[in-house]
Amino acid sequence: MSTAEPNDRRRNMQANRRRDTAPERALRSLLFAGGFRYRCDFRVDLDGVRARPDIAFTRAKVAVFVDGCFWHGCPEHFSEPRRNADYWGPKLARNRERDRVQTAALETAGWRVIRIWEHVPPGTALIIVSDALAVAYGEHTPSVGGAHQTQRARDLTNARARRAN
Ligand SMILES: [Zn+2]
Repeated sequence: MSTAEPNDRRRNMQANRRRDTAPERALRSLLFAGGFRYRCDFRVDLDGVRARPDIAFTRAKVAVFVDGCFWHGCPEHFSEPRRNADYWGPKLARNRERDRVQTAALETAGWRVIRIWEHVPPGTALIIVSDALAVAYGEHTPSVGGAHQTQRARDLTNARARRAN
């Protein structure tokens, strides 16, 4: 894209570095500090679809995506780029279609999918995730086994404590 504006180029670089964005790191830090344990960049191979949630709770089957406002078309902050519209239009439409397909495939496979806009404050994102975990554990049959129970109890306690704040 030789005609790309500097702004477009910056966005391109951000797209290539699509993981470890600042909002994602902030949420992970809060989760970790709260005692939650998760997988980063966990690959889920589904029926013909590959998904890599930014944060995955594999036992609870909760997949968290922190979506960039531009790349994923946040209703509050997204505005169609006027320059190179024939480039950005299809590209961003593909992003959104991929989001939709991945979400659907994960949900079909029994995952709870949480998509959080990058503009959501990390503290709020933490509450959203911990609530989802509490619901997931509430609906799943608890695993038999000390380690699982211990972690589950810890996660639930954390979820409750966070919601009380
Ligand atoms: Zn936004």
